Parts: sequence; C-alpha cells; structure tokens
Amino acid sequence: MPGEKILVIEDEHDIRELISYNLESEGYLLLKASCGNEGLVLARENQPDLVLLDIMLPDIDGLEVCRKLKRDESTREIPVIMLTAKSEDSDIISGLELGAEDYITKPFSPRVLIARIRAVLRRNVEEDETPIIEIHEIRIDIKKHEVTACGDGVNLSATEFAILGHLASNPGWVFSRNQIIDAVRGQNYPVTERSVDVQILGIRKKLGSQGRFIETVRGVGYRIKSE
Ligand code: CA
Repeated sequence: MPGEKILVIEDEHDIRELISYNLESEGYLLLKASCGNEGLVLARENQPDLVLLDIMLPDIDGLEVCRKLKRDESTREIPVIMLTAKSEDSDIISGLELGAEDYITKPFSPRVLIARIRAVLRRNVEEDETPIIEIHEIRIDIKKHEVTACGDGVNLSATEFAILGHLASNPGWVFSRNQIIDAVRGQNYPVTERSVDVQILGIRKKLGSQGRFIETVRGVGYRIKSE
C-alpha cells in the first residue's frame, strides 16, 4: 500500500540507496539508518510499518538490533525482514527465532524484495481479521500476539506464533513443511525444512502439556489435532 513507512538499516551506502530508490518508486516512504543504534532510535520515534535489517552492521549486529526491537514494547509489533549476505541455516534460524518475520539473502533483485515486503505487510493485515482462536486449552489472540496454554502465558517468537496460528486456523489438516513456510511467509521462500522442525519443537515445548496436540504426521508434515 503506498504511503507505508519502511525503515532500512544498512551500512553500505550503495545498497541502502538502491533499496530506497526502488521502494520509493513503489510509493513507500523511506527512513534510512546506517548503523544499528541509529536504526533503533528511528524505529522508536517513527513507528515504521516494516524494518529491513542488515545483519552485518558496524556497531551492533542485526541480530542484536532485532532482539532489541522485539523486546521493546513500542517496536515489537513492527515486522522485520533480515538482509543477509550469509546463507547458513544458523544465521537464518537465529534471526527467525529472535522474531524476524522473513529474511532475504544478498544479492537480491528489487522485484523479489518488493514481493517479500508486500507479503509480510499483507500478512500483518490478514492477522488482524481473525482476532481469537481457541482450541483444546490453547487460546491465541492474533491481534495482541498473545498465547495462553491452560491459562498460562506462552512466550512465542513471531515465527512460532505465525505457524501455530496457521495450524490452529485449520484444525485436523496436515501441512507439509513447504506449505507451512508458504503459509507464514508467502510464496518463493527458500525453504530450509530443518527450520520448520526447529520451530515446531519450540512451539511444542513452550505449550507444555498442550504441546502434544501439535502432531507429527510421518512422511507428510504437521497438524494440530482437531477437538
Ligand atoms: Ca552491512
């Protein structure tokens, strides 16, 4: 949607300007930071609709910036897309576990960048439309990003939350790892199947006794047991 504010945190001038140029051409409003601390200040003061966050920054690295954004009450709801030159699973998983919504591996085309941004922003809007899901003793407040299991608060990362929300919206349905990735991140996501398994393990553990309702269907994928 034109007019949405995007904060780019990237120390490399040419990349920052290239991203800004392409996004401004699409009608987005750009905020630019060349280091992590500057980015955190701009995020708090301007409440952007989305943050594009480079991992390799001169002061504090992008993973730390992401952690700070997701811990701060005033910025935790802002979706983050990590920009990474590395394609190792460990960096991607770290970013996602810290609550980043998506990542893009450099070099990327402007077309891919814009598609990912749209997918993440659209997902945020869609989440607003189904406020509360209740299944077994699990209660998911989509709008507030809050989950309780047997009445106790459960602290999920943004990605864990999205996966649980997707499974719980379709009880009894089995989703393959690829379908789960597609559902929470839009199309054309470079899938690491292991990252889905890691997220599911995390969700089960955090849900405690309710974790048993997240079932593995061997050779197929995962589902939440229907009531
Ligand atoms: Ca960099």
